Amino acid sequence: MKTYDVVVVGGRVAGASTALLLARAGARVALFDRSAYGADTLSTHGLMRAGVLQLSRWGLLDQVVAAGTPPIRTTTFLYGDKEPVRISIRPSPGVDALYAPRRTVLDRILVDAAVAAGVDVRYGTRVTGLLRDRTGRVAGVRGRTRAGTRDVHARFVVGADGIASSVAREVGAPLLREGHWGSAVQYAYYDGLGGSGYEWAYRDGVAAGLIPTNDGLSCVFVGTSPSRMRTMRMDRSAEDAFGSVLRLAAPQHGELLASATRVGGFHGWAGRRGFVRRSWGPGWALVGDAGHFKDPISTHGMTDALRDADLLASAVLDSLAGSRPEAEALDGYQRRRDLLSAQLFQVSDEIAGFEWDSHQVQPLLRRVSAAMIDEVEMLEALAAADERRPLLAPVRR
Ligand SMILES: Cc1cc2nc3c(=O)[nH]c(=O)nc-3n(C[C@H](O)[C@H](O)[C@H](O)COP(=O)(O)OP(=O)(O)OC[C@H]3O[C@@H](n4cnc5c(N)ncnc54)[C@H](O)[C@@H]3O)c2cc1C
Repeated sequence: MKTYDVVVVGGRVAGASTALLLARAGARVALFDRSAYGADTLSTHGLMRAGVLQLSRWGLLDQVVAAGTPPIRTTTFLYGDKEPVRISIRPSPGVDALYAPRRTVLDRILVDAAVAAGVDVRYGTRVTGLLRDRTGRVAGVRGRTRAGTRDVHARFVVGADGIASSVAREVGAPLLREGHWGSAVQYAYYDGLGGSGYEWAYRDGVAAGLIPTNDGLSCVFVGTSPSRMRTMRMDRSAEDAFGSVLRLAAPQHGELLASATRVGGFHGWAGRRGFVRRSWGPGWALVGDAGHFKDPISTHGMTDALRDADLLASAVLDSLAGSRPEAEALDGYQRRRDLLSAQLFQVSDEIAGFEWDSHQVQPLLRRVSAAMIDEVEMLEALAAADERRPLLAPVRR
């Protein structure tokens, strides 16, 4: 029976990236996901600078560009009737522009890179339980496929299985922090909008955005409080409700859409409060939404996941290699993650409440920008260090 160093549960931004980094450093890694290779998931796709920097450091940004993902060179903020505020994306080492790849593109690139690094990837495998050793330490997973159930042993298990993480549930990971609000989001894809920038619009308790993505399409989203979204939906089709929120947030976007063609249906998110879970214990850790979820209005979940995959992979490798005790390495991972996320968590929660007008939201958005500076600086320091040493220390076997 094969024993792995690490089993990763969940194969999207958090899980595929963690598996990739571990395998590149020589760890024997298996990755299980209950869904199918290349399956889509809910997302409006926007990556922030730190997320793009990670893809660039890992040598994967070229593939994102080669997949036809358009470069984002500006961000425009629209506040009520005020003049638009346009900000150019400053090129920095590794980041010539921002990108918003479809999940069918990004998650595939990450998982393909993990396979190329030697990760044993199995789709259609639902993890239904954890294995424990005599001391109670997590020592593997029980997976179910159409062919039956099998146990897979590992020195360490990573739960990258999203917001409703079964790994978190099985280990009883306590909630350390919970937000107060969860915003409701609806989005759809449109052809014919053009544009080469993110556009975010805000007006008295409603928001909207335009995000250019693959295949010449733009992802157009609207957000507001769940109760307001429900009211807008009452007796209306999804299209009418979407159009109404869009025209409230950004009348000019409403007019733009009249000349564009919608491709596919509407996607909806009913809202869920952000949370931070304790994300490690003997033999296990959580990464991505499994450990830390902030409201999608932040458009930062994937960027967080790409950052935290790196922090967790370093900690797990240190512990596997015996260069740091496991508890110290994993506690360090969680502390660093929480330090880098705390401000953004707070301000995302405040924005997700939608209890602001187009003036009050501006200082909140300035806080979002300020909160992103620390994580970019931390990752830029790692990028500089990459040039001096291999990406991660190899695991001693
Ligand atoms: C409406 C909406 C819009 C968003 N827009 C953005 C955006 O513009 N930018 C951004 O950065 N973020 C955005 N996010 C957040 C982003 O989608 C998440 O933060 C991100 O997907 C988290 O990645 P993850 O890998 O942690 O989890 P997930 O993407 O949720 O992946 C978890 C994986 O685990 C698998 N899994 C779950 N349970 C099991 C099991 N028991 N066994 C095996 N496999 C399992 C699932 O099949 C899934 O593939 C948005 C979120 C929503 C809801």
